[in-house]
Amino acid sequence: MTAECHHHEIPPRSGTAFTLDRGDRLTVIDPRGEQVADLLAYNRHDIGEVISSGRTLDYASRIYLTTGDPLYSNRSNVLLRIIEDTVGRHDFLLTPCSADTFRIIYGDTNPHRGCFGNLAAALAPYGIEPDAIPVAFNCFMNVPIDATTGALTVEPPLSRAGDRIVFEAETDLIIGLTACSALQSNGGSFKPIHYEIARAGSALLPANS
Ligand SMILES: [Zn+2]
Repeated sequence: MTAECHHHEIPPRSGTAFTLDRGDRLTVIDPRGEQVADLLAYNRHDIGEVISSGRTLDYASRIYLTTGDPLYSNRSNVLLRIIEDTVGRHDFLLTPCSADTFRIIYGDTNPHRGCFGNLAAALAPYGIEPDAIPVAFNCFMNVPIDATTGALTVEPPLSRAGDRIVFEAETDLIIGLTACSALQSNGGSFKPIHYEIARAGSALLPANS
């Protein structure tokens, strides 16, 4: 935590979970620049409903989402909408990094549990099982695509210190959020993520209350 008590900090290579009510606004901030935050959202009243990369990108007819774009669920309801975005480059294609990611791509013999493990641990108290974790909305993750071959690369985020993306909840939600654990996704270093919650119709309040 910083002196600004309405800021919540997710330490490097970790994650958290919390709830939002319909109308609440969640601001995800990259405090130092070039740091990804994986975001998941579940319907708080039925955890079988979760954000869907496939449906969202299909309905948007784009892979890069920004201000004004909705994030749809597997049941085609809007769970979140992006209402502000100072970066304009995020990823909604790639799965949360995991021990398997580090074993298969990086060749680690004793791999970190990654965003996947951090999300699974943070969401377990809400009854959400690891197998119910889909592709996350990866705030600030920079994955350019070759338009001809479809080849993708993971490049350093375009976000600079203080950049942010703001979401509005369109229903009551459980949110999972990380400071990403993959070196390649974060410009080669692990940094914290900050977030703020503005409750509907009120001032900023602490998140985990
Ligand atoms: Zn990650």
